[in-house]
Amino acid sequence: MKDFIKKKEDFECEICHAEVKGSGYTDHCPACLYSKHVDINPGDRMSDCGGIMEPVHAVNERTYIMITYRCTKCGEIKRVKAAAGDNQGKLESMLGVKASNAMGK
Ligand SMILES: [Zn+2]
Ligand SMILES: [Zn+2]
Repeated sequence: MKDFIKKKEDFECEICHAEVKGSGYTDHCPACLYSKHVDINPGDRMSDCGGIMEPVHAVNERTYIMITYRCTKCGEIKRVKAAAGDNQGKLESMLGVKASNAMGK
């Protein structure tokens, strides 16, 4: 257990002002799904950009949903796994599930 230290950070979302309970994995707001450009590699907090990461697209990878982010400041693209408590309505609208079902097969 000593090799794996989770950082528990509670924070207030700068976009929607939701109070977010840090789980140790939290890198985006579960309510609006926005994130901040603070990491170069996930969790390292080594980026000095600090721009708002906008969720632009989501892909269903069967066991999880991958969200694609674009930094509104520097344009960096990042892909992050959705967390269990994330806003399902928002995720679904980014997935476009209904649109692809409607096309059928
Ligand atoms: Zn938010
Ligand atoms: Zn950035």
